[in-house]
Amino acid sequence: VVDAHDLRKNFGSTEVLKGIDLTVTKGEVVCIIGPSGAGKSTLLRCLNGLETPTSGSIVVNGHDLSDKATNIDKVREQIGMVFQHFNLFPNMSVEENITLAPTMVRKVPKAEAHETALRLLKLVGLEEKIDARPASLSGGQKQRVAIARALAMNPAVMLFDEATSALDPEMVGDVLGVIERLAERGMTMILVTHEMGFAREVASRVIFTDAGVIDEEGTPDEIFGNPQSERLKSFLSKVL
Ligand code: ATP
Ligand code: MG
Repeated sequence: VVDAHDLRKNFGSTEVLKGIDLTVTKGEVVCIIGPSGAGKSTLLRCLNGLETPTSGSIVVNGHDLSDKATNIDKVREQIGMVFQHFNLFPNMSVEENITLAPTMVRKVPKAEAHETALRLLKLVGLEEKIDARPASLSGGQKQRVAIARALAMNPAVMLFDEATSALDPEMVGDVLGVIERLAERGMTMILVTHEMGFAREVASRVIFTDAGVIDEEGTPDEIFGNPQSERLKSFLSKVL
């Protein structure tokens, strides 16, 4: 689904990504961990075209992002992104937040978009909030609506950038539970997360990034149970 090769990104003279190779196949749940400033967010932003890589190639679902002929908007429709801050449209109801892109971009009929919104709100456990305004929701509820909104476009892959970092602790579990349910349903996902317990449980593969490179990758058992590099060992000793 996602194939990035020798990805590099500089901001001025700062090399943030220094040659990342990342292949994610259908149904995989890849967790990216690593210290602050490692380039995790930059990597995700490159994958959905929010940043233009300095060099390297990215292919998403057969679309080459570096090809000038590729319509980046079409590629973005296949990528759902959930950020730390929910960015819901405050002046719209929950339903309108979820149906806006499908009806405007995909020209999905209103009734069908409504059914999809209802189904996705059930999935995230919020069907009774369909007419609510974002301001009346808790942080965890907002984030679950943001996930439903991203899913409404039926993306081939979901990207999560620290989706639970801004939440009160008691709400983190609800959001992680939704992500876990998506994993069980075979959704392809790439998650930047500080939730090591979650990564260990749900990831099919864990990638440790440090200073713009992939330092080590493997199964959760390998990464958490038998880390090889000194940098990963030192990172884990601080976060576990
Ligand atoms: P965190 O865990 O704190 O979110 P991160 O791994 O997501 O960190 P990035 O946000 O990708 O790290 O940032 C990596 C480096 O790139 C940082 O040193 C940051 O200052 C720099 N950087 C990111 N975006 C820009 C930008 N738009 N312009 C200049 N420098 C940037
Ligand atoms: Mg980040």
